[in-house]
This record gives sequence, structure tokens and C-alpha cells, in this order.
Amino acid sequence: MSSQKTTGPQQIRVLKNLNQQAAAWMLGCTARALRDWPDAPRNENGTYPARELVEWARDRVPRPDLSDDDYDRLLVIQDVLYNGEPSDGERLSIIDALRALRRKYGENAWLVFVDMLVREWADIDEQFRAEAFSVPTETDIRRKVDSEMSGWECRLARDQLRIATVCDYCGKLRRGRHWIKADPPEGYAVQGGGCPTCHVTSSEQDARKRASLGCTR
Ligand SMILES: [Zn+2]
Repeated sequence: MSSQKTTGPQQIRVLKNLNQQAAAWMLGCTARALRDWPDAPRNENGTYPARELVEWARDRVPRPDLSDDDYDRLLVIQDVLYNGEPSDGERLSIIDALRALRRKYGENAWLVFVDMLVREWADIDEQFRAEAFSVPTETDIRRKVDSEMSGWECRLARDQLRIATVCDYCGKLRRGRHWIKADPPEGYAVQGGGCPTCHVTSSEQDARKRASLGCTR
């Protein structure tokens, strides 16, 4: 048999680049279970380095292989948690589902859920870490307060009907029957609109566009 002829260095080369099936066989788990472990050491080409994999597996608790239905239940729980505050009913059902998983697979089933969260959140790991853990500067806070204040002022102005209408196209301000070149009054909320000049122009453009499309309406 040709395998008996492989040399030590040749076998090491193979072991440095195990595919998923072989790596899973070596660890005694399913390929899916291995794939679901987010932090299993891998080569850049997706293969597994046997030595690092064994070192990594030594201090890991083995995860049970959940059925698709049970795995799906965990994904649903994850969705419910992501969608904000779960209702009392949802919380009770989550507890029931997690307890049922423990009865069926043992306590390690919960680790599958933890793996799931870590894998999902690892996406934001590097991207937002610096931002999330940085203390905002005084300028940042001031800017945030300013923008919140202007939001409140805008709402108040609207509540009090202090609303200025500005043409979306030419920027003119509506003043009764006229549209003039002026800034909106101080403390007014601004809404967009279309002055007759621009409105005519744009409807002419629309008409031309419709004609070119062969529409008679
Ligand atoms: Zn206009």
C-alpha cells in the first residue's frame, strides 16, 4: 500500500493541513460541530493544523451535536433576544427551551448557545471596539447635546406651527402668495416644498419624460 511508504515529513505536511472531515475525525466530533466552533485554529486556506487543533481541543468542553430542530430553536431565541426586550411569555419559553435542551443533551448544550453569541458578535469585535470603549470628548458630548437640543426645538416649533416652507429646488422661502430669496425666520422648523416656478419646470420635465416613454397620461 502506498500509504505505508509515506515518510515522516510527508505525514507532517498532511497533518498541517487537515480538511474539516479529517480534523473532526481526529477530535472525535462531527464536521458540523467543528465548523460551529468559532475559535478553532485554522489555516488561511481554511484547513486545520493538527498540532494547534489538538492543543486547542485539550482545554475545551466538548459540545453536543444538536439536531437541526434544536439548533433552530436556539437561532429563534437569539432572534428574540436581538429584537429587544423579550415579553414575559417569550422569557418563559426561552427558559423552557434551554431547560429542555439540558435534559436532552446535558448541560454542555448551553455552550452551543454561547458559541453562537460569540460567533455572531465577533463580527463587530474589531470594528466597534475602539468606539464602544472610548470615553467621549467634551466636543463629542457638546455635539450630541446640540443635536438633541435642536431636535427638541424643532419639535416645539412644529407644535407651535412655526414652520417655514422652502423650495426643494431653488431654495426660495414661501411668504404667503410669494416665494422670496430669504432665510427662514429664527426658531422656525423648515419643511421642504416646491415653488410654482420649479413645480412647473419639474412637471414639464415629467411630461417630457412620460412622452418619451410613450405614456399618454
Ligand atoms: Zn423653486
